[in-house]
Amino acid sequence: MSSSTDTRTSIVWDYAPAPESADHIRLSDRYGLFLDGEFKDPQDGRYEPTINPATEQPIAEVAWAGRQDIEAAVRSAREAQPKWAALKDLERAKYLFRIARLIQERSRELAVVETLDGGKPLRESRDVDIPLAAAHFFHYAGWADKLRYGVNAREVAPLGVVGQIVPWNFPLLMAAWKLAPALACGNTAILKPAETTPLTALLLAEIAQEAELPPGVISILPGNGETGAALVRQKKINKIAFTGSTAVGRDIQAALAGSEVRLTLELGGKSANIVFEDAALDQAVEGIVNGIFFNQGHVCCAGSRLLIQESVHDEVIGKLWQRMRRLRVGDPLDKNTDVGAINSAEQLERIEVLVAAGEEEGATRRTIECEMPDRGYWFAPTLFTDVSPAHRIAVEEIFGPVVSVLTFRTQAEAIEKANNSRYGLAAGIWTDKGAKAFEVASALQAGVVWQNTYNHFDPTAAFGGYKESGFGREGGPAGLRPYVRIVS
Ligand code: NAP
Ligand code: MG
Repeated sequence: MSSSTDTRTSIVWDYAPAPESADHIRLSDRYGLFLDGEFKDPQDGRYEPTINPATEQPIAEVAWAGRQDIEAAVRSAREAQPKWAALKDLERAKYLFRIARLIQERSRELAVVETLDGGKPLRESRDVDIPLAAAHFFHYAGWADKLRYGVNAREVAPLGVVGQIVPWNFPLLMAAWKLAPALACGNTAILKPAETTPLTALLLAEIAQEAELPPGVISILPGNGETGAALVRQKKINKIAFTGSTAVGRDIQAALAGSEVRLTLELGGKSANIVFEDAALDQAVEGIVNGIFFNQGHVCCAGSRLLIQESVHDEVIGKLWQRMRRLRVGDPLDKNTDVGAINSAEQLERIEVLVAAGEEEGATRRTIECEMPDRGYWFAPTLFTDVSPAHRIAVEEIFGPVVSVLTFRTQAEAIEKANNSRYGLAAGIWTDKGAKAFEVASALQAGVVWQNTYNHFDPTAAFGGYKESGFGREGGPAGLRPYVRIVS
């Protein structure tokens, strides 16, 4: 460096605030249950506020479904199902195409509401959640008249009425993952959104009305865990599709054991992101950041266990830390924000407990310094090194912006460590060698393996887990299978 550069005054570059306007959003003060094609009051009159986790302010009141409402929804879905299934396949497809197009038309509104209700950066809801939700409807609209080609040229029939329960991390996207294939196959569906993020599912109900979807084909029943548990125990449902934690998945599996009800479970993960010494390290660092800080780490397939080859450990950690320090944490509506608000006070507490355990067990913690808003739920991006495979932060799903780093020396050790988990949802491999990537990928017990990228989603690709990450696949033709029975 020349001496003239040394004496220059350093210029601090910063971003001007770039908040997305929420003025165009016309939310109602209250949302009923979506039942029989209309918004209705719950039988017991229960409404609860849904709040913005970035401000702790209420956004709207939302009805919570009780047992009688669930029974009414099942009756309505039962009645609608034979007519829905009897439509010409291309007619069913038309409704799904309409829903997809209406999601696109209302994408700006949906993105802002997703960000307000859940805390995720607008950049993500605008560029990932909403376009992918539309893409899932488009994709399965295309399958509606080609079902038998998606299921090994067999004759198939719908299952009937399906109950679907989704989590809060990708509210509209998870609803699309569930509803689009179910409807394409001729089933009718009852969806329970998560307690903290019901709003975009309710806007999707408005879209269903606008698309003139026949009443009863989709019901949206917000509520809490009790609503979900009651839906699972409804005798007249043919299938339950659940995405959420392994603990609740286990409870659902026990409740349905021995019954005729079909079940798919998409559960948690502790996915390994493996960096070999021959990888393009700058690119890998971008992938590590995307793998764990995307959506505040509230991602089932987050690359939360970072496995770095020992020879490049210090270099990767140096680059990663420099990159992490440039992450912008704050107002989720600001278009420059990288890391938004933690979804709820409860989730923030879970993250804090596990991070404290990491420190107590002797791992080295580094958390970026940043100014955080006074209100709301926040957790700054955090890196743990000196982690041992037995530490809680290496074993348990944190579901927050926290990455635990382990090291390995050989390829065999990388595979062994990556597979040393009760989960098996996803993995990442960073290497310059194609043969090595294929060899490692085929030895990993993970439903999805990304090579030199991470968190890449596409409606044509199947997604799902092994071991305690669940069973069943969503996306692509494989995503049709859980919604049909083979007739011949
Ligand atoms: P969760 O507590 O299991 O909740 C998921 C959904 O189930 C919510 O709608 C919840 O309602 C409901 N629920 C709670 N208790 C229930 C019960 N006993 N019976 C039936 N339903 C019940 O999970 P979460 O904490 O919201 O979500 C995070 C988890 O989801 C993580 O473990 C993550 O890895 C996993 N996930 C997996 C995938 C995947 O594709 N594999 C995708 C996304 C997330 P409330 O909202 O009222 O609690
Ligand atoms: Mg909320």
